[in-house]
Amino acid sequence: MTFDDLGLDPKTLKAIAESGYTEPTPIQAGAIPKVLQGQDVLGIAQTGTGKTASFTLPMIEILSQGRAKARMPRSMIIEPTRELAAQVAENFEKYAKYHKLSMALLIGGVSFGDQDKKLMQGVDVLIATPGRLLDQFDRGKILMSGVQLLVIDEADRMLDMGFMPDIEKIFKITPFTRQTLFFSATMPPEIKRIVDTFLHNPAKVEVSRPESTAKTVSQFLLSLPANDAKAKRSALRQVMIQEKLKNAILFCNRKRDVDIVAKSLKKHKISAEPIHGDLAQSIRTETLARFKDGKTKILVASDVAARGLDIPDVSHVLNYDVPFHAEDYVHRIGRTGRAGRKGTAITISTPIDHKALAAIEAMLKKPIPKYSLQGISDTKKSQKPKHTPNKTKHPSRPHHKSGKNQDRVTSEKSNGTGFGGDMPDFFKT
Ligand code: AMP
Repeated sequence: MTFDDLGLDPKTLKAIAESGYTEPTPIQAGAIPKVLQGQDVLGIAQTGTGKTASFTLPMIEILSQGRAKARMPRSMIIEPTRELAAQVAENFEKYAKYHKLSMALLIGGVSFGDQDKKLMQGVDVLIATPGRLLDQFDRGKILMSGVQLLVIDEADRMLDMGFMPDIEKIFKITPFTRQTLFFSATMPPEIKRIVDTFLHNPAKVEVSRPESTAKTVSQFLLSLPANDAKAKRSALRQVMIQEKLKNAILFCNRKRDVDIVAKSLKKHKISAEPIHGDLAQSIRTETLARFKDGKTKILVASDVAARGLDIPDVSHVLNYDVPFHAEDYVHRIGRTGRAGRKGTAITISTPIDHKALAAIEAMLKKPIPKYSLQGISDTKKSQKPKHTPNKTKHPSRPHHKSGKNQDRVTSEKSNGTGFGGDMPDFFKT
């Protein structure tokens, strides 16, 4: 199947071709014709499957007929996080570049002035997070009566974040006659209830997890013998050296640890910055931009802040903690190995992670291969003098031949970025 078979117009096809896509992904092939026919769609798919284009492309087509009125958006896309909303807005702009469509982005932490002006002039699509949307609705800034198309994206994440009452309200205040496109990676009972209540005879399009993650991401587990935060941070730095990281997203389970670990890495002259939900939106946006530009090498993140981020060139995902939910493990490791590139995901575990780890391995239906570092327990005593270039006998992944790994470490010279440079600093604990 090609994009030409889906019923999209030449302007959209041109934008698709310029994006470099040659054929539709399964969710696109399944959903686009249904959306164009005006049907409600229930898409069971996670990020990485191309689902964003599966709803934005046909929306552009549908919206190209008709005109927007003041304060009455013609369509809305609801996203759980600000970053995802911004990412979808970027996608929308890319695909709609040959159409004259107007868009507003309504997310917390961003000044409302500009967006309000756009809303006043009339927008074809409003991309929003639920809280901010309802806030502006309650103030009378948005009228819902013109919404003919509503997209709810990442519904299961909305459920996790406690947004379901907001979503239910959004369904109730938008016209009954709207077309609804609803996406979720999983279908827990609460989501099923919402779908049964608010969608009209939806076409169900289900795709499996993007295979690329399993194929292109090598996964490893580094088990530490004790839950000692200092030893954990030290092990983390050793992993970073051993891996010759290009860059990495480093996940922590708690926001507090995101800050602590980012601070600790910086202290060790590693280029790292934190990103989590308690930081101001302007800071989150700038941090993300610096990471995308390669100015920051390590993005230390909470699950919420990094959910669904599509940064094509991330060499490593490091899990400072085993995530509490097995689902999050899949989302986390999916931040690397994107767009067919190879990626590595290394998870650090301590005895308290026993249960969470068992759940992940049960989901994967196999144990995560072990990753070994030598001398974890005696890092402070023995490693500092040992880690002189040339002489060092470096710890290695079990499947690597030892000779190769020596190069991996000793070639890490100062490169001016603060990362990978000043080798001995990694061992100052
Ligand atoms: P998503 O699941 O929407 O987050 O998309 C994941 C990635 O796949 C994004 O980087 C898209 O730009 C890319 N993508 C979407 N559709 C296609 C396609 N048909 N061919 C190749 N890449 C695609």
